[in-house]
Amino acid sequence: MARDYYEILGVSQEAGEAELKKAFRSLAMQYHPDRNQGDKVAEDRFKEINEAYAVLSDPDKRAHYDRFGTAPGAGGSGGFDAGFGSLFEDIFENFLGGGGRGRRTRAARGEDLQYELKITLEEAAAGLETKVQIPRLETCGTCNGSGAEAGTRKVACDACGGRGEVRMSHGFLTVARPCPKCLGEGQINRSPCKTCRGEGRQRAERLLSVKIPAGIDDGMQLRLTGEGSGGVNGGPPGDLYVLVRLREHQMFARNGSDLYCDLPVSFPQLALGAELEVPVLGGSAALKLPAGSQPDQILKLRGKGMPHLRDRGHGDTCYRLVLEVPAKLNTKQREALEAFEAASKERGPLATSFFERMKKLLG
Ligand SMILES: [Zn+2]
Ligand SMILES: [Zn+2]
Repeated sequence: MARDYYEILGVSQEAGEAELKKAFRSLAMQYHPDRNQGDKVAEDRFKEINEAYAVLSDPDKRAHYDRFGTAPGAGGSGGFDAGFGSLFEDIFENFLGGGGRGRRTRAARGEDLQYELKITLEEAAAGLETKVQIPRLETCGTCNGSGAEAGTRKVACDACGGRGEVRMSHGFLTVARPCPKCLGEGQINRSPCKTCRGEGRQRAERLLSVKIPAGIDDGMQLRLTGEGSGGVNGGPPGDLYVLVRLREHQMFARNGSDLYCDLPVSFPQLALGAELEVPVLGGSAALKLPAGSQPDQILKLRGKGMPHLRDRGHGDTCYRLVLEVPAKLNTKQREALEAFEAASKERGPLATSFFERMKKLLG
């Protein structure tokens, strides 16, 4: 009869995920083959610990184990399953502590980074040059990203022969897993670089200049080649993407290179026509309402919009005429409007058409 998994890890049946992981980590460190070379008992214990944790750390398998006292699908001894490799990677991510971390041996390109830059509509119209502060990982200058101290090199891992993986067979099935000693790297870093503690990269903050072209729109990205995270083991750096976000404007909405503005007007202004002072980006301009303008009609000031991003010239600024009817009238207004209504004998084309159709409908 196999030993109880809880007993193996020295935890109670009520132990939570964190407690399990902690117990597993400390036991795995204690019995790791790397620290107990040639010790058969430690090796068996190490396997036992892994098996217990593989089952108890998986809620489904743990439930099964709690009910039946065996690991699901375990046909006797063993019980290693395909999830074991990822378990190793997960648990041993920080296993070597201050020593030889840095898990990739092949040259790897640094990660791309993204920075969100908020700008105003005015800035988008004029274009701007600004500085952004970017925290990033940079390739360590002392070891050139290798993680090994100058004059030293990483040596091939003896546990896996430098392959980075170990093969385990149960029955006729052979499964390759990342080597637990070198964490899949295939190499051991015996003298980690002191500057970066073997990581090959260091945190840094950089102030970078960004040039935003006039006409840029919300959601567009600028790529700064090579300004992302530094590469590992001689790999090239990633890129930095500056994502441009436009702040909301108190007057204008934007559609491409056109700007839109709601302009409140009165009935007499629509009917009689008017010349109004309206906002444009960066100032004001005169807008002429022809007599007989209609509510919701759009009048344009051509060339007063945003600059085209990839072309010469500008879009338009469009003003939607929003009719505002007074909620209250003073005596003079009332008299004037009553006089206006009395003087209006002819219907407009909309009303004429409406009443003709209504008459037809009613027969
Ligand atoms: Zn270094
Ligand atoms: Zn290895």
